[in-house]
Amino acid sequence: MISKPKAKTARAPILDAVRRAARQEQFLEVVSAAEARRRFEAQIDRSALPGESLPLVAALSRVIAADVIAPVDAPPFDRANVDGFAVRAADTLGASPGTPKRLLLNSEVIACGIAPDLEVVPGATTAIATGGVIPRGADAVVMIEHTELVEGDAAPAIDLHRAVASGQYISYAGSDIARGETLLRRGTQIGSREIGMLAACGFAAIEAVRQPRVAVLSTGDELVEPGKPLRPGGVYDSNGAIIAAAVAEAGGEAVPFGVVRDDEAALEQAMRRALSSCDMVVLSGGTSKGAGDLSHRVVSRLGSPGILVHGVALKPGKPLCLAVIGDKPLVVLPGFPTSAIFTFHSFVAPIIRARAGLPVEALRMVTARVPMRIPSELGREEFVLVSLVAADDGLIAFPTGKGSGAVTAFSQADGFFAVDALASALDAGSEAEVTLIGESKRAPDLVIMGSHDVALDVVVGALAERGLRVRTIAVGSLGGVNAASRGECDIAPVHLVDPATGIYNNHLLTPDLALIPGWRRMQGLVFRPGDARFEGRSVEAALQAALADPAGLMVNRNAGSGTRVLIDNLLRGAKPAGYANQPRSHNAVAAAIAQHRADWGVAISPVARLYGLGFLPVAPEHYDFLVVEARRQRAAVQAFIEVLRDEATRGRIRALGMEP
Ligand code: AMP
Ligand code: MG
Repeated sequence: MISKPKAKTARAPILDAVRRAARQEQFLEVVSAAEARRRFEAQIDRSALPGESLPLVAALSRVIAADVIAPVDAPPFDRANVDGFAVRAADTLGASPGTPKRLLLNSEVIACGIAPDLEVVPGATTAIATGGVIPRGADAVVMIEHTELVEGDAAPAIDLHRAVASGQYISYAGSDIARGETLLRRGTQIGSREIGMLAACGFAAIEAVRQPRVAVLSTGDELVEPGKPLRPGGVYDSNGAIIAAAVAEAGGEAVPFGVVRDDEAALEQAMRRALSSCDMVVLSGGTSKGAGDLSHRVVSRLGSPGILVHGVALKPGKPLCLAVIGDKPLVVLPGFPTSAIFTFHSFVAPIIRARAGLPVEALRMVTARVPMRIPSELGREEFVLVSLVAADDGLIAFPTGKGSGAVTAFSQADGFFAVDALASALDAGSEAEVTLIGESKRAPDLVIMGSHDVALDVVVGALAERGLRVRTIAVGSLGGVNAASRGECDIAPVHLVDPATGIYNNHLLTPDLALIPGWRRMQGLVFRPGDARFEGRSVEAALQAALADPAGLMVNRNAGSGTRVLIDNLLRGAKPAGYANQPRSHNAVAAAIAQHRADWGVAISPVARLYGLGFLPVAPEHYDFLVVEARRQRAAVQAFIEVLRDEATRGRIRALGMEP
């Protein structure tokens, strides 16, 4: 919100606040990631917590505390696997349809759960059901289908039409689980299969490692609990949710403490409560240098040994603070979401796993080519989150490029690679060792790289319904053109205008790239409803009014975007106030206007509608698809083209305000 400068009397307190904000407290000592880990791990117990007895129903996904030795055999007795007759195999020798063997029937039928009474003596047999106990004397079972009942005046008998070998259709006692064998090893995570094995051995309960209780706190006056309305300047507390979930994934029990104000007393009280009730404390936020950096100040008075590391030479994650209070680890993660989750996974998750009794997670690495130059800060080991795409000559790693403040960078990445602290950049085309994160996913069937649009989600959704896995990487129109030219994607959505002709996208065609028409998105002047400079006027008149108003402020677009070309055409060389503010998306333009940081700009109509803004149509923008010719015949590319033509899809695109 823009507010008028305060009157003179209010100046002194404001100046104080500005001085506080500008104060740069230094990190105690910035250490390397390896040194940070060494110091931290030297002070903490990483052994598995003791076991606790849990009923089987509550044991799912817990970790077995001690090796489980099978107390019984499974099956507990020699068991028939088919319905038929228990026999001595020797008696069946030579039986065939032409020369059947006759066996006298014992006068009992062994159903499941019945202990047999009679022995199968030579020349005799007993009827037995699947699951029945093999009687004394028998060593095989003949299927009922290979026998014929003989009824007459003599005692009942069967004729066998087939010989069987000893052991046929018998599961011997202990052949599944042998009494005394190690059924499950400690450290095994309990899934449904393990629960089945335990039940088969008669266990109703199991010793599972107690889960470390991990307190999760967020601090920041701007933070709003999800579910509540966002106030101006507010940000949803996403760290609390993602860290609590990551704690559970690492085998811990997350104990949510919610959001704590940026207030030393409140923070100290919350941290003390957390320390007394949990095994470990993870706080995010309050780490930026200057006014808000209070987390480490509070931690420094909680007890000894106290802060071990404050400041790590890595990016993202420099403000990380590692402490131990008594015997409990306490970690302050940077507030920026990507930094928070990244440092959580490198410094906290391994400890939770160890205490939860889970084995060290083996790092899974792949080699991939990095197509662009990656500038990097000297003196800090820099981690770059990437999406992996399979090309003809191996894997390519694309930086997700969203910065440490992004919430999605980590969740959308397939992995990351490190740029050495001593390198100032990684050259384009370099090979990198990428550490994979999350479950290894099946390679996508279709890779779409370029500009993103809400209607593209409709197309991707339709492809997903056909069972195709689509990976979209938003790199902007120009990024898409480059990726398509290098054959790194199948399809590149673009909306670039040729400034010479005013025609969209046609100038991007090469012998290797074809163009498939997508849809048009109406661009126009956007403004807050009720603004008399715009409301009800023609575009021309509105522009004149806006330019004539000395208090008016526009928001521009980045050079290279089609919208920017349109804006420059409209302005005919004028550079009004706000021209230098050049965000990269329609949404950013609309947000700036809706939040009074600017008064007008140019954006597409669906976005104007989404932000409740007024709209004066100017000219359509063409959002089309470059298709890499060499990949055009692939089934997934063909499916994409079909879906684009599909009337149901087109209807949904229209509903979003686009014209397919
Ligand atoms: P801080 O470390 O408190 O200075 O925060 C740095 C940045 O991270 C600020 O932009 C905060 O708004 C953001 N941030 C801090 N905590 C959270 C959180 N729990 N969820 C989302 N963003 C956060
Ligand atoms: Mg903060």
